[in-house]
Amino acid sequence: MSNRRDFIKKAALGAAAVSSIGFNGFAKEKENEKEGALEFPSKKVKKPVVISTWNHGLPANQETWKQLKAGKSPLEAIEAGMKIPEADPNVRSVGYGGYPDREGKVTLDACIMDHNSNCGSVCFLQGIMHPISVAKRVLENTPHVMLAGQGALQFALSEGFKEENLLTPESERDWKKWLEDSKYKPVINIENHDTISMLMLDQDGNLSGGCTTSGAAWKMHGRVGDSPIIGAGLFLDNEVGAAAATGLGEAVIRTAGSAMVVELMRQGKSPYDACKEITERIYNKHKNHKDMEYLQVGFIALNKNGEHAGYSLRSGFNFAVSDDEKGHRMEDAKFKMSWDK
Ligand code: ASP
Repeated sequence: MSNRRDFIKKAALGAAAVSSIGFNGFAKEKENEKEGALEFPSKKVKKPVVISTWNHGLPANQETWKQLKAGKSPLEAIEAGMKIPEADPNVRSVGYGGYPDREGKVTLDACIMDHNSNCGSVCFLQGIMHPISVAKRVLENTPHVMLAGQGALQFALSEGFKEENLLTPESERDWKKWLEDSKYKPVINIENHDTISMLMLDQDGNLSGGCTTSGAAWKMHGRVGDSPIIGAGLFLDNEVGAAAATGLGEAVIRTAGSAMVVELMRQGKSPYDACKEITERIYNKHKNHKDMEYLQVGFIALNKNGEHAGYSLRSGFNFAVSDDEKGHRMEDAKFKMSWDK
Protein backbone atom coordinates (compact mmCIF):
# COMPACT_ATOMS: atom_id res chain seq x y z
CA MET A 1 0.00 0.00 0.00
CA SER A 2 1.35 3.43 -0.88
CA ASN A 3 2.20 5.99 1.77
CA ARG A 4 -0.48 8.27 0.46
CA ARG A 5 -3.22 5.70 0.80
CA ASP A 6 -1.96 4.98 4.28
CA PHE A 7 -2.22 8.65 5.09
CA ILE A 8 -5.77 8.95 3.79
CA LYS A 9 -6.88 5.93 5.78
CA LYS A 10 -5.23 7.12 8.98
CA ALA A 11 -6.57 10.65 8.63
CA ALA A 12 -10.05 9.31 7.96
CA LEU A 13 -9.96 7.15 11.04
CA GLY A 14 -9.71 10.40 12.97
CA ALA A 15 -10.31 10.76 16.67
CA ALA A 16 -12.00 7.38 17.07
CA ALA A 17 -8.91 5.51 15.97
CA VAL A 18 -6.55 7.69 17.98
CA SER A 19 -8.51 7.24 21.21
CA SER A 20 -8.73 3.50 20.70
CA ILE A 21 -4.96 3.08 20.68
CA GLY A 22 -3.94 1.59 23.98
CA PHE A 23 -1.92 -1.50 24.79
CA ASN A 24 -3.40 -3.22 21.85
CA GLY A 25 -3.88 -0.01 19.90
CA PHE A 26 -2.23 -1.40 16.84
CA ALA A 27 -4.70 -4.26 16.64
CA LYS A 28 -7.65 -1.89 17.09
CA GLU A 29 -6.38 0.39 14.38
CA LYS A 30 -6.12 -2.57 12.02
CA GLU A 31 -9.69 -3.48 12.88
CA ASN A 32 -10.92 0.01 12.04
CA GLU A 33 -8.94 -0.03 8.86
CA LYS A 34 -10.90 -3.05 7.71
CA GLU A 35 -14.16 -1.11 8.09
CA GLY A 36 -12.61 1.08 5.48
CA ALA A 37 -12.34 4.85 5.10
CA LEU A 38 -12.64 6.28 1.62
CA GLU A 39 -9.95 5.13 -0.70
CA PHE A 40 -9.06 6.99 -3.88
CA PRO A 41 -9.68 5.63 -6.37
CA SER A 42 -11.95 2.88 -5.10
CA LYS A 43 -12.34 -0.39 -6.99
CA LYS A 44 -15.56 0.88 -8.50
CA VAL A 45 -15.07 4.33 -9.96
CA LYS A 46 -17.98 5.97 -11.78
CA LYS A 47 -16.68 8.00 -14.73
CA PRO A 48 -17.05 10.25 -16.55
CA VAL A 49 -19.14 12.54 -14.35
CA VAL A 50 -19.82 16.25 -14.87
CA ILE A 51 -21.61 18.46 -12.33
CA SER A 52 -22.45 22.16 -12.64
CA THR A 53 -24.19 24.76 -10.52
CA TRP A 54 -27.75 25.98 -11.11
CA ASN A 55 -30.25 25.46 -13.94
CA HIS A 56 -27.96 26.89 -16.59
CA GLY A 57 -25.61 24.07 -15.64
CA LEU A 58 -27.83 21.67 -17.60
CA PRO A 59 -27.27 23.03 -21.14
CA ALA A 60 -23.63 23.61 -20.19
CA ASN A 61 -23.28 19.99 -19.06
CA GLN A 62 -24.94 18.72 -22.22
CA GLU A 63 -22.47 20.59 -24.40
CA THR A 64 -19.49 19.56 -22.27
CA TRP A 65 -20.63 15.93 -22.40
CA LYS A 66 -21.04 16.04 -26.17
CA GLN A 67 -17.54 17.47 -26.60
CA LEU A 68 -16.01 15.00 -24.19
CA LYS A 69 -17.60 12.05 -25.97
CA ALA A 70 -16.42 13.49 -29.29
CA GLY A 71 -12.85 13.21 -28.04
CA LYS A 72 -12.17 16.79 -26.94
CA SER A 73 -9.81 17.28 -24.01
CA PRO A 74 -11.40 17.87 -20.57
CA LEU A 75 -10.51 21.57 -20.62
CA GLU A 76 -11.79 22.02 -24.18
CA ALA A 77 -15.04 20.33 -23.16
CA ILE A 78 -15.39 22.48 -20.02
CA GLU A 79 -14.73 25.63 -22.04
CA ALA A 80 -17.32 24.68 -24.66
CA GLY A 81 -19.98 24.00 -22.03
CA MET A 82 -19.37 27.17 -20.07
CA LYS A 83 -19.54 29.32 -23.19
CA ILE A 84 -23.26 28.48 -23.44
CA PRO A 85 -24.41 30.48 -20.36
CA GLU A 86 -21.72 33.10 -21.06
CA ALA A 87 -23.35 33.88 -24.41
CA ASP A 88 -26.94 33.63 -23.15
CA PRO A 89 -28.40 37.10 -22.39
CA ASN A 90 -31.09 35.49 -20.22
CA VAL A 91 -28.51 34.22 -17.73
CA ARG A 92 -28.16 37.42 -15.75
CA SER A 93 -24.98 36.75 -13.81
CA VAL A 94 -22.69 35.22 -16.37
CA GLY A 95 -21.05 36.88 -19.38
CA TYR A 96 -23.23 38.70 -21.91
CA GLY A 97 -26.36 40.12 -20.26
CA GLY A 98 -24.95 39.78 -16.73
CA TYR A 99 -26.04 42.39 -14.18
CA PRO A 100 -23.54 45.26 -14.17
CA ASP A 101 -21.79 46.85 -11.22
CA ARG A 102 -23.14 50.05 -9.69
CA GLU A 103 -21.47 52.12 -12.43
CA GLY A 104 -23.29 50.18 -15.13
CA LYS A 105 -20.20 48.16 -16.16
CA VAL A 106 -20.34 44.41 -16.73
CA THR A 107 -17.15 43.01 -15.17
CA LEU A 108 -16.36 39.32 -15.43
CA ASP A 109 -14.40 36.73 -13.43
CA ALA A 110 -13.46 33.19 -14.52
CA CYS A 111 -10.99 30.40 -13.86
CA ILE A 112 -10.10 26.92 -15.06
CA MET A 113 -7.94 24.17 -13.53
CA ASP A 114 -6.62 20.83 -14.78
CA HIS A 115 -5.62 17.58 -13.10
CA ASN A 116 -1.96 18.65 -12.93
CA SER A 117 -2.94 21.72 -10.88
CA ASN A 118 -2.35 24.03 -13.84
CA CYS A 119 -4.64 27.03 -13.46
CA GLY A 120 -5.66 30.06 -15.47
CA SER A 121 -7.79 32.91 -14.21
CA VAL A 122 -9.06 36.35 -15.18
CA CYS A 123 -10.81 38.87 -13.00
CA PHE A 124 -12.40 42.29 -13.43
CA LEU A 125 -12.36 41.72 -17.18
CA GLN A 126 -14.60 43.93 -19.30
CA GLY A 127 -15.82 43.75 -22.88
CA ILE A 128 -15.01 40.08 -23.59
CA MET A 129 -17.93 37.67 -23.94
CA HIS A 130 -16.01 34.50 -23.03
CA PRO A 131 -13.81 34.99 -19.96
CA ILE A 132 -13.56 31.20 -19.54
CA SER A 133 -11.69 31.07 -22.87
CA VAL A 134 -9.36 33.87 -21.79
CA ALA A 135 -8.70 32.03 -18.49
CA LYS A 136 -7.80 28.92 -20.51
CA ARG A 137 -5.35 30.95 -22.58
CA VAL A 138 -3.79 32.33 -19.38
CA LEU A 139 -3.21 28.71 -18.33
CA GLU A 140 -1.81 27.71 -21.73
CA ASN A 141 0.07 30.77 -22.95
CA THR A 142 1.41 32.69 -19.95
CA PRO A 143 3.77 31.96 -17.05
CA HIS A 144 1.05 33.23 -14.66
CA VAL A 145 -2.13 32.04 -13.00
CA MET A 146 -4.20 35.23 -12.85
CA LEU A 147 -4.57 38.40 -14.92
CA ALA A 148 -6.75 41.32 -13.83
CA GLY A 149 -8.59 44.25 -15.37
CA GLN A 150 -6.88 46.19 -18.11
CA GLY A 151 -4.00 43.71 -18.27
CA ALA A 152 -6.42 40.81 -18.75
CA LEU A 153 -8.17 42.77 -21.50
CA GLN A 154 -4.88 43.57 -23.26
CA PHE A 155 -3.93 39.90 -23.10
CA ALA A 156 -7.33 38.84 -24.48
CA LEU A 157 -7.02 41.27 -27.39
CA SER A 158 -3.49 40.06 -28.12
CA GLU A 159 -4.90 36.52 -28.28
CA GLY A 160 -7.45 37.59 -30.90
CA PHE A 161 -10.56 38.00 -28.73
CA LYS A 162 -12.95 40.72 -29.84
CA GLU A 163 -14.09 43.56 -27.59
CA GLU A 164 -17.85 44.06 -27.43
CA ASN A 165 -20.58 45.68 -25.36
CA LEU A 166 -21.92 43.15 -22.85
CA LEU A 167 -24.57 45.41 -21.30
CA THR A 168 -27.93 44.37 -22.77
CA PRO A 169 -30.90 46.78 -22.79
CA GLU A 170 -32.54 44.61 -20.07
CA SER A 171 -29.52 44.83 -17.79
CA GLU A 172 -29.23 48.56 -18.41
CA ARG A 173 -32.89 49.02 -17.51
CA ASP A 174 -32.51 46.97 -14.29
CA TRP A 175 -29.41 48.93 -13.34
CA LYS A 176 -31.19 52.28 -13.80
CA LYS A 177 -34.00 50.99 -11.63
CA TRP A 178 -31.52 49.90 -8.97
CA LEU A 179 -29.96 53.38 -9.03
CA GLU A 180 -33.26 54.85 -7.80
CA ASP A 181 -32.41 53.83 -4.23
CA SER A 182 -28.93 52.32 -4.73
CA LYS A 183 -29.10 49.93 -1.78
CA TYR A 184 -26.62 47.07 -1.85
CA LYS A 185 -28.54 44.16 -0.42
CA PRO A 186 -28.29 41.27 -2.88
CA VAL A 187 -31.50 39.29 -3.29
CA ILE A 188 -30.81 35.71 -2.17
CA ASN A 189 -30.73 33.20 -5.04
CA ILE A 190 -31.31 36.00 -7.55
CA GLU A 191 -28.63 38.66 -7.30
CA ASN A 192 -26.01 36.70 -5.42
CA HIS A 193 -25.91 33.60 -7.52
CA ASP A 194 -25.63 32.39 -11.08
CA THR A 195 -21.98 31.65 -11.26
CA ILE A 196 -21.57 28.55 -13.27
CA SER A 197 -19.03 26.27 -11.66
CA MET A 198 -18.35 22.95 -13.35
CA LEU A 199 -16.45 19.91 -12.05
CA MET A 200 -15.47 16.90 -14.13
CA LEU A 201 -14.08 13.42 -13.54
CA ASP A 202 -13.10 12.34 -17.04
CA GLN A 203 -12.88 8.87 -18.57
CA ASP A 204 -9.23 8.59 -17.52
CA GLY A 205 -10.19 9.26 -13.91
CA ASN A 206 -8.71 12.77 -13.86
CA LEU A 207 -10.35 15.80 -12.31
CA SER A 208 -10.72 19.29 -13.77
CA GLY A 209 -13.03 22.27 -13.35
CA GLY A 210 -13.98 25.83 -14.19
CA CYS A 211 -16.00 28.84 -13.01
CA THR A 212 -17.37 31.86 -14.83
CA THR A 213 -19.49 34.77 -13.54
CA SER A 214 -20.33 38.44 -13.71
CA GLY A 215 -20.36 38.29 -9.92
CA ALA A 216 -22.74 39.94 -7.50
CA ALA A 217 -25.15 42.42 -9.06
CA TRP A 218 -24.56 46.10 -8.20
CA LYS A 219 -21.14 45.41 -6.69
CA MET A 220 -18.64 48.27 -6.31
CA HIS A 221 -16.57 48.92 -9.43
CA GLY A 222 -13.45 46.79 -9.13
CA ARG A 223 -14.96 44.19 -6.78
CA VAL A 224 -13.77 40.64 -7.43
CA GLY A 225 -15.58 37.67 -5.91
CA ASP A 226 -14.51 34.14 -5.11
CA SER A 227 -15.12 32.65 -8.55
CA PRO A 228 -11.75 33.41 -10.21
CA ILE A 229 -9.76 32.66 -7.05
CA ILE A 230 -8.26 29.18 -6.99
CA GLY A 231 -8.99 27.78 -3.53
CA ALA A 232 -12.07 29.95 -2.98
CA GLY A 233 -14.47 29.56 -5.91
CA LEU A 234 -12.78 26.44 -7.30
CA PHE A 235 -10.22 23.92 -6.14
CA LEU A 236 -9.19 20.41 -6.97
CA ASP A 237 -6.53 17.94 -6.05
CA ASN A 238 -6.35 15.10 -8.53
CA GLU A 239 -5.55 12.62 -5.78
CA VAL A 240 -8.71 13.41 -3.84
CA GLY A 241 -11.54 15.46 -5.33
CA ALA A 242 -12.82 18.77 -6.64
CA ALA A 243 -15.10 21.44 -5.21
CA ALA A 244 -16.65 24.71 -6.35
CA ALA A 245 -18.78 27.43 -4.84
CA THR A 246 -21.57 29.79 -5.68
CA GLY A 247 -23.23 32.52 -3.65
CA LEU A 248 -21.81 35.46 -1.74
CA GLY A 249 -18.16 35.42 -2.79
CA GLU A 250 -16.96 37.44 0.20
CA ALA A 251 -18.05 34.65 2.57
CA VAL A 252 -16.40 31.99 0.43
CA ILE A 253 -13.11 33.92 0.26
CA ARG A 254 -13.11 34.49 4.04
CA THR A 255 -13.19 30.73 4.58
CA ALA A 256 -11.13 29.47 1.60
CA GLY A 257 -14.30 27.50 0.86
CA SER A 258 -13.52 25.13 -2.02
CA ALA A 259 -10.02 24.30 -0.80
CA MET A 260 -11.47 23.35 2.58
CA VAL A 261 -14.10 21.08 1.03
CA VAL A 262 -11.30 19.24 -0.81
CA GLU A 263 -9.23 18.97 2.36
CA LEU A 264 -12.15 17.40 4.22
CA MET A 265 -12.53 14.86 1.43
CA ARG A 266 -8.81 14.11 1.77
CA GLN A 267 -9.47 13.31 5.41
CA GLY A 268 -12.08 10.76 4.39
CA LYS A 269 -15.33 12.75 4.30
CA SER A 270 -17.85 12.12 1.57
CA PRO A 271 -18.55 15.00 -0.85
CA TYR A 272 -21.86 15.57 0.96
CA ASP A 273 -20.35 15.71 4.46
CA ALA A 274 -17.50 17.93 3.26
CA CYS A 275 -19.85 20.46 1.59
CA LYS A 276 -22.13 20.44 4.64
CA GLU A 277 -19.32 20.98 7.13
CA ILE A 278 -17.88 23.97 5.28
CA THR A 279 -21.34 25.50 4.79
CA GLU A 280 -21.91 25.12 8.56
CA ARG A 281 -18.53 26.73 9.19
CA ILE A 282 -19.49 29.68 6.98
CA TYR A 283 -22.77 29.98 8.87
CA ASN A 284 -21.00 29.93 12.25
CA LYS A 285 -18.51 32.58 11.14
CA HIS A 286 -21.26 34.81 9.72
CA LYS A 287 -24.25 34.37 12.01
CA ASN A 288 -23.50 37.70 13.72
CA HIS A 289 -22.09 39.35 10.61
CA LYS A 290 -23.74 42.14 8.65
CA ASP A 291 -23.68 39.94 5.51
CA MET A 292 -25.93 37.32 7.16
CA GLU A 293 -29.09 39.09 6.01
CA TYR A 294 -28.36 38.28 2.37
CA LEU A 295 -25.96 35.41 2.76
CA GLN A 296 -26.37 32.42 0.50
CA VAL A 297 -23.55 30.00 -0.31
CA GLY A 298 -23.65 26.66 -2.06
CA PHE A 299 -20.97 24.09 -2.78
CA ILE A 300 -20.72 21.21 -5.21
CA ALA A 301 -18.10 18.49 -4.82
CA LEU A 302 -16.96 15.45 -6.76
CA ASN A 303 -14.47 12.91 -5.50
CA LYS A 304 -12.01 10.68 -7.27
CA ASN A 305 -14.50 7.80 -7.14
CA GLY A 306 -17.12 9.75 -9.09
CA GLU A 307 -19.32 10.42 -6.04
CA HIS A 308 -20.91 13.86 -6.03
CA ALA A 309 -22.98 16.16 -3.80
CA GLY A 310 -24.21 19.69 -3.32
CA TYR A 311 -25.17 21.57 -0.16
CA SER A 312 -26.23 25.14 0.52
CA LEU A 313 -26.88 27.44 3.44
CA ARG A 314 -30.37 28.41 2.27
CA SER A 315 -32.81 26.41 0.19
CA GLY A 316 -33.15 26.97 -3.53
CA PHE A 317 -29.76 25.78 -4.77
CA ASN A 318 -29.71 23.11 -7.46
CA PHE A 319 -27.12 21.64 -9.76
CA ALA A 320 -26.86 19.63 -12.97
CA VAL A 321 -25.40 16.12 -13.00
CA SER A 322 -24.36 14.08 -16.05
CA ASP A 323 -23.18 10.49 -16.15
CA ASP A 324 -23.64 7.41 -18.33
CA GLU A 325 -25.91 5.69 -15.86
CA LYS A 326 -28.68 8.31 -15.63
CA GLY A 327 -27.90 10.87 -18.34
CA HIS A 328 -28.39 14.59 -17.70
CA ARG A 329 -30.59 15.76 -14.82
CA MET A 330 -31.01 18.41 -12.13
CA GLU A 331 -30.65 17.67 -8.41
CA ASP A 332 -31.79 19.84 -5.51
CA ALA A 333 -29.10 20.47 -2.93
CA LYS A 334 -29.84 19.74 0.71
CA PHE A 335 -29.62 22.88 2.85
CA LYS A 336 -29.28 24.20 6.37
CA MET A 337 -32.14 26.72 6.44
CA SER A 338 -35.24 27.01 4.33
CA TRP A 339 -35.80 30.31 2.63
CA ASP A 340 -38.87 31.77 0.93
CA LYS A 341 -38.74 34.65 -1.47
N1 ASP B 1 -19.79 33.74 -6.17
C1 ASP B 1 -20.08 34.82 -7.08
C2 ASP B 1 -19.49 36.08 -6.59
O1 ASP B 1 -19.55 36.35 -5.40
C3 ASP B 1 -21.52 35.04 -7.26
C4 ASP B 1 -22.25 33.90 -7.78
O2 ASP B 1 -22.11 32.76 -7.35
O3 ASP B 1 -23.01 34.15 -8.69
O4 ASP B 1 -19.01 36.83 -7.39
